[in-house]
Amino acid sequence: MQYRKLPHGKEQISVIGMGTSSIGKSGEREIEATVAMALENGINYFDLASADAAPFAPIGRAVAGQRDRVYFQVHFGADYQTGQYGWTTDLETIKRSVDWQLSALGTDYIDFAFLHCMDEMEDLRTALEGGTLAYIRELQKQGVVRHIGMSSHTPAVARAALDAGVLDMLMFSINPAYDYHREGEFAIGGVEERMELYRRCQAEGVGISVMKAFSAGQLLNDRTSPFGHALTEYQCLQYALDKPGVLTVLPGMRNRSDLKRILGFFDASPEETEYSVLGTFAPQEAEGVCVYCNHCQPCPAGLDVGLINKYYDLSRAGDALARDHYAKLARKAGDCIGCGHCDRRCPFHVAQSRRMQEIAAYFGA
Ligand code: SF4
Ligand code: SF4
Repeated sequence: MQYRKLPHGKEQISVIGMGTSSIGKSGEREIEATVAMALENGINYFDLASADAAPFAPIGRAVAGQRDRVYFQVHFGADYQTGQYGWTTDLETIKRSVDWQLSALGTDYIDFAFLHCMDEMEDLRTALEGGTLAYIRELQKQGVVRHIGMSSHTPAVARAALDAGVLDMLMFSINPAYDYHREGEFAIGGVEERMELYRRCQAEGVGISVMKAFSAGQLLNDRTSPFGHALTEYQCLQYALDKPGVLTVLPGMRNRSDLKRILGFFDASPEETEYSVLGTFAPQEAEGVCVYCNHCQPCPAGLDVGLINKYYDLSRAGDALARDHYAKLARKAGDCIGCGHCDRRCPFHVAQSRRMQEIAAYFGA
């Protein structure tokens, strides 16, 4: 397992976490066994926005005795008191549901308290001003809540939450279909607006946990993929993990067999995880935009083209650390010999050799 550090904390979060949206139907024994297997394999991050109440108790049993090794994303606004999932912004219902969730999990604290599913500005306003945020902050003072987060599919709402300066973590839907194709209920905002959000999160130290990395399975099938070509789970995972700000991707797992397949990501070859094929069917607006995929490697001058571009974009987005990170690179844009290999190889038609000159001028090296 690989881990990434939460910028606003000490937590080291596994790059693959576990989504529990569809595990509820598998039965208590399978849920418990799946979570136990996830823990054995180093997964330590669990999202609890489930489709029903069934997973809470078995998850609690599976982590008993090792609660301090595990991070829970608990959603303030997901209500399970009827046994099924319900969405609410009513503060009293939220309080009762959070109590229920803690009790079912057998825990007395929340690692990440999330404002749940904030897709409309009006809902965010209600959460920020109507008492939910104040309630979370009160729990934080009492030591019940460690960090504050929010889940959303809407860049504009996520930006407004960043403006309010309340987030340590953002759960956001990231996949190539939403970023490039604007197709589907949650494909909100153009590629540049979405990339700008990811960069802003990294610049402001807000980690991203990724939901819908496979666009609810739509991307995994030639017939349903908006590109007319299926991508693999491993390509989608790598795609999300390459985005700035992303700490962890949370595929929904139904059982141990799903988990085993997902864990195969760590043994997959570079050919299996690389997603440059996107360049052949991404739309016009993706042209010329570096997505840090490093498909243009190897660079004869030894430059890490993707990383250099990422630090450049992050620094211009206001990430104060990006300039330092860049300064520590052994080979910098100024070392580019202008061979043009990357220009020829880039599936997104980025004029990279020219961009290297621009980056060298910006950083002065
Ligand atoms: S220049 Fe192209 S191939 Fe190279 S990292 Fe950027 S997008 Fe990928
Ligand atoms: S043009 Fe520069 S960055 Fe691109 S492959 Fe050649 S040396 Fe490397």
